[in-house]
Order: sequence, then C-alpha cells, then structure tokens
Amino acid sequence: LQSKLPNVGTTIFTKMSALAEEYKALNLAQGFPEFDCSPDLQRLVDKYVRSGKNQYAPMPGALPLREAIALKTFEASGYEYHPVTDITITSGATEALFVAISTVVHPGDEVIVFEPAYDSYVPAIELSGGIPVFVTLDPQYDSIDWELVKSRVTDKTRAIIINTPHNPTGKVWAASDLRALASLSEEHDLVVISDEVYEYIVFDGREHISVASIPSLAGRSFVCGSFGKTFHTTGWKLGYCLAPADLTAEFRKIHQFLVFSVVTPFQFAVAEYLTEPEHYLSLSAFYQRKRDLFNEAIKDIGFVLKPSEGSFFQNVSYANLSDENDLALAERLTREVGVASIPVSAFYGRETDFKTLRFCFAKHDETLLKAAGLLNAAR
Ligand code: PMP
Ligand code: GLN
Repeated sequence: LQSKLPNVGTTIFTKMSALAEEYKALNLAQGFPEFDCSPDLQRLVDKYVRSGKNQYAPMPGALPLREAIALKTFEASGYEYHPVTDITITSGATEALFVAISTVVHPGDEVIVFEPAYDSYVPAIELSGGIPVFVTLDPQYDSIDWELVKSRVTDKTRAIIINTPHNPTGKVWAASDLRALASLSEEHDLVVISDEVYEYIVFDGREHISVASIPSLAGRSFVCGSFGKTFHTTGWKLGYCLAPADLTAEFRKIHQFLVFSVVTPFQFAVAEYLTEPEHYLSLSAFYQRKRDLFNEAIKDIGFVLKPSEGSFFQNVSYANLSDENDLALAERLTREVGVASIPVSAFYGRETDFKTLRFCFAKHDETLLKAAGLLNAAR
C-alpha cells in the first residue's frame, strides 16, 4: 500500500503517555485534565441517557446546544451566529479542524501555518493535496512578525490557520495581531481557520479575542472549539465549528459523511450546563492558580520559564542547563526522574533545536508538587 501520509508516525502525545505508563512517571506530557468533570454535569448526562436521548442527533447537532453556543458567542464577541445555519457540533475540535481544512483546501492550494503548530493541521492539509507553508516562530516568541507572514503569501495561498490561546506555547494573541490578520486575509481573500479550544483559559487579566469579534474576519472564518478543555471532558470528544452560512453549508457536506452526527445525550447535557456562565468563566482563575503553583515549585531548577498567557501548558527552556535535544531529555526525564513532558520540537515540521519542554499543569496540586519535587531532586 502506498502511504498517504508517509511522513507521519504515532503522535508524540501517544508516545510520551505510553512511556510515562511504562516507567510509572507522572504524566505532565499529554494535555488532558487529571481531574474529573463536575458531578452536576455527570448527572445531566445521566438524565438525558435515561430520558431517551440515545438515537442519532440531527446532522448539525442538537439544536439546544447550537442555541447555547450562539448565545455564549454573542455575549463574548457580539457576533450573531445563527444556530440553524452557522453552527455545527463535531467530534471534538479535531474533527472541526479536519473538516474545515478539507472544505477549503484543493490540490495545490497553499495554507499558512504558524509553527510550533498543533499536530493535526498539517496531515489534514496534505490529505487534501494542499501545501503547508510555514511561518516558523521560536517557542519563546514574543510577537508575530507580520512582515514575515506577508512574505509567505502567494497567489496560491488559500487559507491561514491560527491558534489562540496557543498550544504549545501558551501565547495569547493581542488585538493588534487580529487586526493584522484581518487586513492580510481581506487583502488576499484568505479563509481563516481559527483554533480556539483554550478560549476560556487566559491569565493575568488577559482577554481571549476570538476572530468572531471582528466582523470582517468572522465572515471569512471557521472557528473551532472544544468542550473537552472547558469542562474537563476530553474523552467526550465534543466540539463545534462556527462559520457563516455559505461556509457552513460546504462544511456540513463533509461532516455528514465523516460522522453524520455526534453523541446525543452529551450534547443535551452540555447545552443545559452552558446556561450557567460561571461553569466556564471560572476556568481561567482555576488554571492560573495551578500555573503559579507549578512555576513557584520549579523556579529554582534553572529553567527559563516562558510566560504562559493562556492554555494549560508551561514551556521551559533548558538551553542553559543541558545540550541534550528536547526529545532525548523528555525521554530521559520520564525514565530516570519520573516526570513526563512533551518536547516542543514535535510541533515543528522540520528539525529544530530550541531546547524547550512543555509541561501540562492540568493536574492535581499534589501531582504538580510531586513532579516539581522530583525535578528539583534531579537538579
Ligand atoms: N487544537 C488544539 C490546539 C488542542 O490542544 C487540541 C486538544 N489537545 C485540539 C485542537 C483537539 O481538541 P479535541 O480533543 O476536542 O479534538
Ligand atoms: N491536545 C493534547 C495535547 O496537546 C493532546 C491530544 C491528543 O493526544 N491527540 O497534549
């Protein structure tokens, strides 16, 4: 068989979680919460399972969930997505991203991707015959070089993929970045695919600015979100895609043949849970405290801590401590120290040596302190 993805192996998340398991290491690698979702949300799932919400949901998703998403998005951004024509419930953000990319990209089209990049974007582009065009950023980057981005645009550029708050760096885009994106995408008629799965995890008083908050951008964007991050339910694989009706109509042509629809009782449960905004607006404070706890506990190791502005990741540079490449160090720390992390080089499409590790702090305080203790002891 001729591989359609000859350069793709098993993802780094699967690899590091397996290594953590093998060596009984604390898993600060793969990004998922160690704690459970709220008992109230569990009871809602139970309620809908028991009240017969167990057959196919409508292809675009359960209407109450689409209505709840329309409302929360309007309140945050002022943009009105119509629940019937503009919102589709997906199997996680992964499906939303894959379908959005498949909807837009034709063979030979170029797609601008900032790297470090989440690992699902590039394979999706390539499966559609597209060509990823990278704007490479150091994982310690402070601001985006928009002149560099512009220099990558050609007459074949069809789309640009953005991610804020960003995985792996924790960078949160400023209003000026979104304005630059708006003028670039208007000038070159680009479709924007915006990965906003960490929309409710921003720190130190920062605001998440969705592409939906700039009407000219919203009109040319697919906004991809996920309840996995917001409600500590990554295993439910429940996400969504917001886009104007003409884009959504094309998106749904693919979504309907990929999965048709996604898990019904969970959609009703999340719809009801979303009616209380405190359920998601409290998330930033929850994770900011964990970030601070972890960073305080590792501050004497000698790592250079990259400010984590959002998401549940802390990046550390160890260039001053070791010459090892990041994959070798992440594996060695897992085996010998008992703490697993993710080598940030895995988020680049080519060899890099930025000597940066990503730690996930979506863990119990006890786990974070224990991991920090092991790292300190190994110093
Ligand atoms: N995008 C980013 C940046 C992510 O970190 C993740 C989850 N790890 C996803 C997309 C995928 O989200 P989901 O689990 O809802 O498919
Ligand atoms: N998004 C998660 C992370 O960045 C992993 C998701 C996955 O394992 N596919 O760690």
